Amino acid sequence: MIIVIDGPAGTGKSTVAQKVAQKLGFTFFDTGAMYRSIAWMLLQEKVDPANREEVCRLLPRFKYEIKIDEKSQRRYFVSGTDVTAAIREPTMSSAASKIATIPELREMLVKIQRKFGHHCNAVFEGRDMGTVVFPDADLKIFLTAKPEVRARRRFEELLKKFPDMNQTLDYGQILKEIEERDRNDSTRAISPLKQAPDAHLIDTSDMNVDDVVDQILGLLPQHKSYFRKKWLYGFSYWIARIFFKVCFRLKIYGLEHFRPGAGIVASNHASLYDPPVLSVSCPEEVHFLAKDSLFEIPLLGRLIRVLNAHPVSRSATDASTFRDLIRLLRDGKKVILFPEGTRSSDGGLRPLERGLAFIVSKGRCPIFPAYIQGTFSAWPSSKKFPRLFGKISVVFGTPIEWSDFEGLDKREAERQLTEKTAQSFKELKDWLERGAEGVPP
Ligand code: C5P
Repeated sequence: MIIVIDGPAGTGKSTVAQKVAQKLGFTFFDTGAMYRSIAWMLLQEKVDPANREEVCRLLPRFKYEIKIDEKSQRRYFVSGTDVTAAIREPTMSSAASKIATIPELREMLVKIQRKFGHHCNAVFEGRDMGTVVFPDADLKIFLTAKPEVRARRRFEELLKKFPDMNQTLDYGQILKEIEERDRNDSTRAISPLKQAPDAHLIDTSDMNVDDVVDQILGLLPQHKSYFRKKWLYGFSYWIARIFFKVCFRLKIYGLEHFRPGAGIVASNHASLYDPPVLSVSCPEEVHFLAKDSLFEIPLLGRLIRVLNAHPVSRSATDASTFRDLIRLLRDGKKVILFPEGTRSSDGGLRPLERGLAFIVSKGRCPIFPAYIQGTFSAWPSSKKFPRLFGKISVVFGTPIEWSDFEGLDKREAERQLTEKTAQSFKELKDWLERGAEGVPP
């Protein structure tokens, strides 16, 4: 499902979009950050943002990444440099607005945005999301507010972000800049800022953020059941996380390797503790498959359903399990898989099954390799009941990209993918055993 939120600067788009995404467990995309990031790159290279030819010459160099930090906050990178704070400076706003009139640049960004939105439950915010990028979005919102209110909000936001500017910030100047940016954005020839005919208009001048979020959620037909499910997931997630943090001193490394969108979180498997440990270690909501018999156990059944377990029938053919997995990936979800097939009987690594590579090739998504240490001694397969204390660590490694194997013969691609995942498990295990220093491989 795609929800788009468009509107001019200062209407509260980013905050609202972020909250809507958070409440629904969707991915959030701030497309303005992309325009700002290109503006940052150009200013670094001392290129005039109004010089179309020069801007186009530099475009192929634009290497953009979004990562999630340990506080689950998004961080934006251009060619490896963290630009999250720098792109919010006022100079970037006007430079972004200038380059946003260049057709070649918009074309490139629209392609990236659509790719991000492919197979993903997401909230996109920007100027042309409902009109150009996702004309078929499931829900379109257009936010507006009086210019004076928007300027006041921007003024306060800038003061909060850059307290050193309290002498130089001028409300009148900000109002002028906002009006100029509105003019630029709504009169440009390509993808001007305008309300899509099927978008819901919300004037946020006299509303607070929570009221706007509630109004948007109210426009979603199934929002009540969504909400209940998300709330239950969040509640169970935190209970489980606190349990593992307190009783097992759970340590999580390598979260910088995570990024939004569909993917397989593949890990070694030595204990029944692994699925909940891995779920609470991931910075976003994850799904996993579980035997359907587990769903019939009164309390456990409810708990794992809430934690996004999907039943796999014991008698099911492999094909139906694969279909379920592919459906989850197409919906942009992250799915936990244990490619060793069954739990290790001695805690060591086992050979990987080919199924993982097959699913990845069908889902065309990255693998996020992970290694779990300590769950075997906490609850080995030979023991009926778990220990309630110990030490557990989880480390996430560099994602393995399906696209790197795309050109190869199907069987060869699957073989290499399996091998690379097994290699990654070994490297992550070694990294933990060497003392977990620096960035995990
Ligand atoms: O939303 P934000 O203020 O961060 O956007 C910065 C500038 O980027 C806008 O003024 C606009 O010119 C441009 N932009 C755009 N299309 C988008 C998002 C942003 O033209 N989808």
